[in-house]
Amino acid sequence: MTDITVAKGHVVSFHYTLTVDDQIVDKSDAERGPLAYLHGYGNIVPGLERELEGAPVGTKKQVTVPPELGYGTRDDDAYEKVPSSEFEGMQLQKGMPIQAQLPDGRTVVYWVDAVAEDHVVLTLNHPLSGRTLNFDVELVGIRESSDEEKAHGHPHGPGGHQH
Ligand code: ZN
Repeated sequence: MTDITVAKGHVVSFHYTLTVDDQIVDKSDAERGPLAYLHGYGNIVPGLERELEGAPVGTKKQVTVPPELGYGTRDDDAYEKVPSSEFEGMQLQKGMPIQAQLPDGRTVVYWVDAVAEDHVVLTLNHPLSGRTLNFDVELVGIRESSDEEKAHGHPHGPGGHQH
């Protein structure tokens, strides 16, 4: 037993179930194991990160996250109609992320909001924006991170980035 708790720069592993309006929309998978993230680096939504601060391994918690601390509020102007011809050969589905490069070189993520015969509606709103998120979490591991992980801003190894 160690007394390490969740703090900035620690790699935290947890199991979770995410419920929105009584529907499970995401959960950690028994095969892949728990999700690992680097605490204090914005890897997970701020409302959840904040509630885990200081918690020890074994903590089980229910956390309710409002949109502002989750995937953001919904911007009704952030929708764009694009001709289907621009997506030739791609299998588009509602809720799918699409990375686009802006003229200034920055990349931005759009989400597919609707697919029609001759056009696609893209939005900057995350599919879970505007929604209250309910997380059921269980902390199963906390460890110090390496300098490399801190430099990358994410954990490596099981449950984290494989590269
Ligand atoms: Zn990395």
